[in-house]
Amino acid sequence: MSATRKTSAVRLTAWGRPPSLADAEVPDPVGTEVLVRVEAAGICHSDLHVVDAPPGTFRYRLPFTLGHEIAGHVAALGDAAAGLEAGDRVAVHGPWGCGACRRCAAGEDNYCDRRADLAWSGAGLGRDGGMADHVLVPHARHLVPIGDLDAAQAAPLTDAGLTPYHVVARLTLAGDSAVVVIGAGGLGHVAIQILRATTGARVFAVDVREDALALAHRSGAHRTLRAEPGTEAVLRRETGGADAVLDFVGSDPTLALAAGVLRPGGTLAIVGSGGGQLTVAKPGPLPQGATVSLPFWGSRRELAEVIALARTGAIRVETELFPLTAAGEAFERLRAGQVRGRAVLLPG
Ligand code: NAD
Ligand code: ZN
Ligand code: ZN
Repeated sequence: MSATRKTSAVRLTAWGRPPSLADAEVPDPVGTEVLVRVEAAGICHSDLHVVDAPPGTFRYRLPFTLGHEIAGHVAALGDAAAGLEAGDRVAVHGPWGCGACRRCAAGEDNYCDRRADLAWSGAGLGRDGGMADHVLVPHARHLVPIGDLDAAQAAPLTDAGLTPYHVVARLTLAGDSAVVVIGAGGLGHVAIQILRATTGARVFAVDVREDALALAHRSGAHRTLRAEPGTEAVLRRETGGADAVLDFVGSDPTLALAAGVLRPGGTLAIVGSGGGQLTVAKPGPLPQGATVSLPFWGSRRELAEVIALARTGAIRVETELFPLTAAGEAFERLRAGQVRGRAVLLPG
C-alpha cells in the first residue's frame, strides 16, 4: 500500500471552529498497528463539546480527525499485529490508554492510570479517529470482532452502547428498583434498552424533547416525563425515591433534579458533560448514603458483552444515517437537537 493514497477525513483544525472535510493520507500500519477500513462512525454529543471548547480546555494537539465510535474491517496489519486477519469485521474500543499500566493491561483503558499524562482520551479525541475512510488503530487489542453485525449498529455501540452498559453493570438493583434516565438521546435511549434487557428495574425517562420521549417509550421506558417545573415532585411520588439516576445531560438543572429524586443510599451516575455543578457536602443536596460516580466509557470486555447483547436482538440503536460528505449537516442537526437516537456517518 502506498503512503500517498488519499482518504477523506472530518478534521478539527482550530478550536471553536466547525470541523471540515479534508484530504488525508492513508497511512501504512507499522509494528502493532492495524489499518481499519471504516464502514460507519457515530457522532457523539462529546464531539460537539470538543468542537465548541475554548483553547486550553483539552490537552489534544490539533489537527486531528474526529470520530470515536467506529466499526469496519481490517484493511492491513503491521508486522507485529497479531490475532486478526485482513477482512475481519471489527468495532474499535475507543479509549486508548498508555498501553502499559495495569488498567490498560486489563482492557480498562478507560481508566488508564496515566490518563492525566496523555494528550488524548482515545480515538478521535486527540488522536486521528474514524470519521474518515480509514483509521489507524495503534494495537489489535483495541479491536473487538463483530461478526455480521451491521456496522451502523456496531459503531454507536462502542460508546452510546458501551458507556450506559458500563454504568448499568456497576449498579446493584433489586427487582423492584426505580431508575431515572435523564436525557433520552444517543446514549440515553440505549441505556433504557440495557436496563430493560439486564435488570428488572422500573425505568423512568426524562427529556425536554417530545421526540426523545417517544423514542424512550419505544425503547422500553415504563414512564416518560417532560423536564419541566413539577417533574421532580411527580418523580418522587411515582418512584418513591429513585434507586439510581443516570444523568446523560449533566447540567445544573438536571443535577439538581437527580439529587432531588434520589433515594437515601441511591446512586447517581453523572455521564453527561453539560458543565453543571453539584455540591457534595454533609449536609447537602444529596440524600444520606448516596454514591456519586463519574463514569467514563467502558472496558474492552464490556464492549464485547454489549456487542453480544446486540447480536441477540435485545438492543437496537435508533440511527440516522449520513454519507461522510454530509458530516457538517449531521453535526448541525445534533446541535439543534434534531437527531433521533444516533447520527452515524457512512464513508465510501
Ligand atoms: P444527545 O444530544 O444525543 O442526547 C442528549 C439528550 O438530552 C437529548 O435528547 C436532549 O433533548 C436531552 N436534554 C437536554 N437538556 C435536557 C434537560 N435539561 N433535561 C432533560 N433532557 C435534556 O447526546 P449524547 O451523545 O447522548 O451524549 C449525552 C452526554 O453524555 C453528552 O454530554 C456527552 O458529552 C456525554 N458523554 C459522556 C460519556 C462518558 O463516558 N461519560 C460518553 C459519551 C457521551
Ligand atoms: Zn462519545
Ligand atoms: Zn494505561
